[in-house]
Amino acid sequence: MKIVVLMKQTPDTAQLSASMDGLQLMAGGPRIINPWDEYAIEEGLKLREAHGGSVTLLCLGDPAAAEALKRGLAMGADEAVLLSDPAFDGGDTLATARALAAAIRKLGDVDLVIAGRSSIDGGNHATAVQTAALLDVPQLSYVAAITAVDPAAQTITVERAIDTGRQTVSSRLPAVMSVVKEINEPRYPSFMQIRKAAKKEIPVWGPAELGLDAGQVGAAGSQVSWPVVELPPARDAQVEIIGGTPDEAAKTLVDRLLAEKII
Ligand SMILES: Cc1cc2nc3c(=O)[nH]c(=O)nc-3n(C[C@H](O)[C@H](O)[C@H](O)COP(=O)(O)OP(=O)(O)OC[C@H]3O[C@@H](n4cnc5c(N)ncnc54)[C@H](O)[C@@H]3O)c2cc1C
Repeated sequence: MKIVVLMKQTPDTAQLSASMDGLQLMAGGPRIINPWDEYAIEEGLKLREAHGGSVTLLCLGDPAAAEALKRGLAMGADEAVLLSDPAFDGGDTLATARALAAAIRKLGDVDLVIAGRSSIDGGNHATAVQTAALLDVPQLSYVAAITAVDPAAQTITVERAIDTGRQTVSSRLPAVMSVVKEINEPRYPSFMQIRKAAKKEIPVWGPAELGLDAGQVGAAGSQVSWPVVELPPARDAQVEIIGGTPDEAAKTLVDRLLAEKII
């Protein structure tokens, strides 16, 4: 199977400081593979192990995003392509999906595209859906398990995680699928794999390599813009420690909750 995994580099939210405003959050600070995309990479690797083929990582980002791709290569992916060019700056999800779809077409004969559920920064949950629409292939969202794949027959059956339980969906391939974390446990690359991946060449494609005009990508190719990104206002919270024995504390707590009409 020829598998493409869409992966984004995002800020490491575990290491953000409260003083960073939203725009700094986007522009600076430590960065990682979008955590949801690690599950997408793992699922691609498991499918390759079961059915043969290759896993190609695809990321649209600035030149520093190559580091995230190297981490994905260290997990075991065969190759990686970085879509990077100043013309991609300020793109919305549709402009991003347009570039990703063009790259997938250029890679050719792709059976399955796997994305994460969403990014931890933008969180639009839209890029995979729009990529599927632009490629004119089925979209399987929130996949929690792949129950059957037949590369020869070009079919796939998955379980989708929905609010009320699991939904079984069968589809033809090629398709675009987004995965949730229940699907697997991403592997950790070994030290040797990290060293090997660090030496791999990662081709960089811009709009010209994708056969797109600069006006179709980035801010110029977008329908929405982000004029302001900011942290939510700080909450005016007060803390009170209730003392006494456990019984006394419980009684005081219940009295206070009743007085505040919380219970
Ligand atoms: C500096 C900056 C400026 C921005 N300006 C705007 C703006 O003006 N207007 C606007 O609407 N948005 C803007 N964005 C957000 C940008 O459009 C989104 O980050 C991008 O389109 C993906 O959307 P998302 O992060 O919500 O991902 P989601 O749609 O939540 O992602 C779902 C999945 O799609 C895949 N995916 C998402 N992004 C990528 C990627 N780049 N490469 C490969 N795979 C990917 C991943 O598998 C991911 O798990 C800006 C972002 C940055 C960093």
